[in-house]
Amino acid sequence: RAKGKSRGTISIYEPEMDQQIRDRRVLHQELSVAIKNGELSLYYQPQAATAVSATASEAVGFEALARWHHPVRGFVPPGDFIPLAEESGLIVEMGEWILREACREAASWAMPLQVAVNLSPAQFTHGDLVGLVHSILLETGLTPDRLELEITEGVLIEDFDRGLSLLRRLKALGVRISMDDFGSGYSSLSYLQAFPFDKIKIDRAFVINLGRNPQSAAIVRAVIDLGHGLEMSIVAEGVETEEQLAFLAEEGCDAVQGYLIGKPAPISQYAALVGGAGNMEPARKTA
Ligand code: C2E
Ligand code: MG
Ligand code: MG
Ligand code: MG
Repeated sequence: RAKGKSRGTISIYEPEMDQQIRDRRVLHQELSVAIKNGELSLYYQPQAATAVSATASEAVGFEALARWHHPVRGFVPPGDFIPLAEESGLIVEMGEWILREACREAASWAMPLQVAVNLSPAQFTHGDLVGLVHSILLETGLTPDRLELEITEGVLIEDFDRGLSLLRRLKALGVRISMDDFGSGYSSLSYLQAFPFDKIKIDRAFVINLGRNPQSAAIVRAVIDLGHGLEMSIVAEGVETEEQLAFLAEEGCDAVQGYLIGKPAPISQYAALVGGAGNMEPARKTA
């Protein structure tokens, strides 16, 4: 660590740093075998059309969210292991597994609901994403219009031209593209103009503050109008209260996602909504 520092600065030896680096290394190794060991799974969180009393029973689709159940550490949140997978390049392999699993799952539903899958920046820059999506759709039999790919602005920042060309080619396959966490990063209005998004997901941070501060309400209202003007549909993330829902319904937000409608859970918990999940393990006989 001291090597990179300029002459004259004092470097302080911090044993905890070494420990942290060792921990990360171990975690990397464990993550690299997690797929093989069946420790990864997908939870699904419903999105519902906005109605004054939206419940999961009006679900229009689900977002697939990765979960890692570590045999010893227990549950590791995606906010921890996704960045780790990104750093180590594992995200490419993991992202492929996630995409295939989500498409396979959705293809087994009796109801033709949407499934949304999060993509990492590395999946855009490594390998042939368009070819992968295409072959997974063929392989699983999921019709393209049921697949939605969620990306964050970070994905597009690095290389505008490449990003645009990839999004166009993905759209040409017939899949939908959502701008995730809108408003949380370097959100720029020019992105909305330049990139062919189908949907904008308003970041949870704005939804939390609805009813608490008038600025958030103004921003949410403006994003809804802006999105509609660009012929994009709007989903609000992190809806937890009836008050938030009422505001969003009033403002014409198209869909809502959040604990009020349903928490991320194994698809078996939403079997009634998807019309029975064909990939579910058969119920164990207790008798
Ligand atoms: P995200 O894509 O913005 O997903 C929404 C997150 O908000 C999820 O957290 C979800 O559980 C949480 N959430 C939803 N409704 C509520 C609510 O009403 N209240 C609160 N407090 N939280 C709510 P989760 O599952 O921990 O995922 C965190 C992030 O990790 C995701 O944010 C996404 O950026 C990333 N992630 C998760 N799964 C994947 C994946 O398969 N691939 C990639 N690349 N990233 C993933
Ligand atoms: Mg997402
Ligand atoms: Mg999001
Ligand atoms: Mg988020």
